[in-house]
Amino acid sequence: MSGVIHHGRDLSEDQDLTCDVCIIGSGAGGAVLAAGLAKQGLDVVVLEEGGWFTKKDFNLEEASAYPMLYQDRAGRATADQAITVLQGRSVGGSTTVNWTTCFRTPDKVLRHWAAEHGVEGLNSELLAPHFDSVERRLNIEPWSERIANANNRVLYDGCKSLGWEAQATRRNVKECGNTGYCGLGCPIDAKQAMGITYVQDAVADGARVFSDVRADRVVVREGRVEEVQARVLNRENSRPTGVAVRVRAKAVVSSAGAINGPALLLRSDLNANGRVGLRTFLHPVVALPAYYEDPIEGFYGAPQSISSHEFVERAAGQMGFFMEAAPLQPVLAVGGSTLVGPAQHEMMRNLPYMGVLIALGVDGFLPGDEGGVVSLRSDGRVRLDYSVSEDLAECFRSAHLAMARIELAAGAKLVQSTHNQPVKLRKEADLETLGLAPYGALEHPIFTAHQMGGCAMGSDPSTSVVDPAFRHHDIGNLFIVDGSVLPTSLGVNPSETIYALASHASGLIAKELAR
Ligand SMILES: Cc1cc2nc3c(=O)[nH]c(=O)nc-3n(C[C@H](O)[C@H](O)[C@H](O)COP(=O)(O)OP(=O)(O)OC[C@H]3O[C@@H](n4cnc5c(N)ncnc54)[C@H](O)[C@@H]3O)c2cc1C
Ligand code: SF4
Repeated sequence: MSGVIHHGRDLSEDQDLTCDVCIIGSGAGGAVLAAGLAKQGLDVVVLEEGGWFTKKDFNLEEASAYPMLYQDRAGRATADQAITVLQGRSVGGSTTVNWTTCFRTPDKVLRHWAAEHGVEGLNSELLAPHFDSVERRLNIEPWSERIANANNRVLYDGCKSLGWEAQATRRNVKECGNTGYCGLGCPIDAKQAMGITYVQDAVADGARVFSDVRADRVVVREGRVEEVQARVLNRENSRPTGVAVRVRAKAVVSSAGAINGPALLLRSDLNANGRVGLRTFLHPVVALPAYYEDPIEGFYGAPQSISSHEFVERAAGQMGFFMEAAPLQPVLAVGGSTLVGPAQHEMMRNLPYMGVLIALGVDGFLPGDEGGVVSLRSDGRVRLDYSVSEDLAECFRSAHLAMARIELAAGAKLVQSTHNQPVKLRKEADLETLGLAPYGALEHPIFTAHQMGGCAMGSDPSTSVVDPAFRHHDIGNLFIVDGSVLPTSLGVNPSETIYALASHASGLIAKELAR
């Protein structure tokens, strides 16, 4: 039996639906889970607040892609505006716009979760068949450093000449045209995002997917979810059209991602132990631009194909970081800069010669590092607080120094920091000035494309939200399957971890429903 993807605009009357499993969200977690459950014969309904778009909609223009495909039209940020939050919103979730870098979960991280967070049984052996399976389905294969674009080559060449580790990443692509526009939606369906892979598999096995439908509330009676209350949104302005959707299911799964998933639970008054929204991690990012003699054209070519984990493990008490490159479409480049007026004009004039490396802080591992907090504003909108600790500020400083050395080693003629008062470096001796620059909230742009946690997994119901079988500690038929269950960040890009966890969860939830 084949299912269907309904556009919200086609729903003119209230919908009362019943099914075996209602999944809220269709990203890395929701899509893989929906496909796994539908394949096992379960009747699945997926509610997705974003739109359903295909390659025909992806016109490579930032002006349309950001409002169409990102949370809050790409304007999401922490409450103090210090950290820009890039997060996806469409059928396929953040995978529609992600940069395709794939890593298995480091064994060390899984061991840390077992030891420190009571996540028993979730080890590399258990996850191996799930990694194998998603790698096959998504064509996750190594990219070669030989075809890395010049922006990524800076990272590779600079690290190699300094004797530091750097490697080509694996990517979930098939016949990638190396356009460089992954962040705006792949125009040729080369990216194996959820919308063209697992969502289609789920639909082929009978799942009903509703785009432009936001779950407002999960209604619980006597310890069980009774129904999900949702509303159809007008795609143009995200306001409710007045059409309601109610779903009654044997099991309900929140796959709404970090930030929105915890917010859904808070709106539903499901926070008995006070842990929902806590331990939200971001892999907070600082960027370092540099200018070269020859064109870099960081807006072309696979955006992220080299990664260096040289500094993931640092001295005791220091936060680790890993380094990658970022695409340089004009709006993104301006958004990541503090320059205005003539200085911004100069930057844009030199954009083809500019490269940008990024460093991602590995948050959630140091003692006392509790990350950020998701809460609700008085009008019900989501709020994210994340303070930049001294440890994170030190991490940013060290990361900037490391990236400056890489860029200089790779031939940069000018490295220019992103501080409010930019520091300019032309040689190694200038590193000292950079080391003296201020680091912290609002001193320089910070952003995140990796939101994790907020509904942490763990065995202790007093310190976590779901158990290692993805089940809510208090509500028997409520599960959470997405990046929000991670008890820490990862130190690698998170998508493949979430795919594999969702693949594992589909077996557990189907077994549970068969009992
Ligand atoms: C620009 C960018 C680049 C990235 N690059 C990489 C990369 O190269 N490699 C990598 O591993 N990771 C990357 N990531 C991160 C990765 O894509 C995410 O970590 C992953 O997709 C998260 O999976 P998820 O299921 O938790 O959430 P998502 O994939 O974000 O899916 C959640 C979905 O739920 C929907 N939703 C939320 N609330 C509701 C509601 N109330 N009702 C209905 N639907 C709702 C959202 O609209 C969204 O579609 C990138 C992310 C971004 C934004
Ligand atoms: S770089 Fe490859 S995967 Fe990314 S948008 Fe271009 S063709 Fe698609």
